[in-house]
Amino acid sequence: GIVYVNGEYLPAEEAKISVFDRGFLMADAIYELTAVVDGKLIDFPAHLARLDRSLAELDIVNPHGYDEWLALHRELVARNAVTEGSVYVEVTRGNTGERAFEYPPAEIPPTVVAFATNRPGIVDSPAAAAGLRIVTLPDLRWQRRDIKTVQLIYQAQAKMLAKRAGADDGWLVEDGFVTEGTSNNAYIVRKGRIVTRPLGNDILHGITRASLLRFAREAQMEVEERQFTVAEAQAADEAFITSATGFVTPVVEIDGTAVGTGKPGPVALRLREIYIDESRKTAL
Ligand code: PMP
Repeated sequence: GIVYVNGEYLPAEEAKISVFDRGFLMADAIYELTAVVDGKLIDFPAHLARLDRSLAELDIVNPHGYDEWLALHRELVARNAVTEGSVYVEVTRGNTGERAFEYPPAEIPPTVVAFATNRPGIVDSPAAAAGLRIVTLPDLRWQRRDIKTVQLIYQAQAKMLAKRAGADDGWLVEDGFVTEGTSNNAYIVRKGRIVTRPLGNDILHGITRASLLRFAREAQMEVEERQFTVAEAQAADEAFITSATGFVTPVVEIDGTAVGTGKPGPVALRLREIYIDESRKTAL
């Protein structure tokens, strides 16, 4: 495919990043992933706002304005003929020509890398139809999970541990409460109410989460932002996750215990429909 590197669109095999890039050496970088449906970007302004916030939290100057970022995303979608899939963008603190812990001088420009991927089946998703089996794992990440850094090694490890345990994905647990999934936000449904952990530094502020909670409230559904335990999740009527490319995906099993009927629940499936319908309306 065609990728973007520091102002150029290149075949992926010709794109190069320095060995001394801080993204490579220190995971000193942030990223965003935006879904593409019917060739359009889902929830784009919110993803850009979070990108801006992640950069600001790390004192990296955002190298592009809104219009430039939008044009870059659209260019990658067009050049790669993406109809359904995603656009990934990453901004690192740049190539400092050495390995040093101190931040480089301000004149070192950030590195920008981006690519678009065709992934048919995110709307008509087999995983959403079947529901996911989850295992829980301790949340061993750093305490600024609200910043979307590329420091994803524990999430990758947790996902592998979940897969090796025969599950589809992992939920992370801290002080007895579920924080979030390896790459998604976690929810349960009790007596028709949607329960999810409140925002803080301990979870990523999911863009899908924000939109979904707004749509749910607009549809007169009750939302409770509070922590929940694994036992409460296992005893819930339903459970589900949200993420940019997973939208709303039902969870049917947690640590070997069936949730509700053990099949995707009606609330989760309805929310999935609402999210896809509503977010399509504002797609760019
Ligand atoms: N939590 C974590 C840890 C994630 O990696 C992601 C996806 N990047 C999410 C939540 C979901 O966020 P979003 O809805 O913005 O994709």
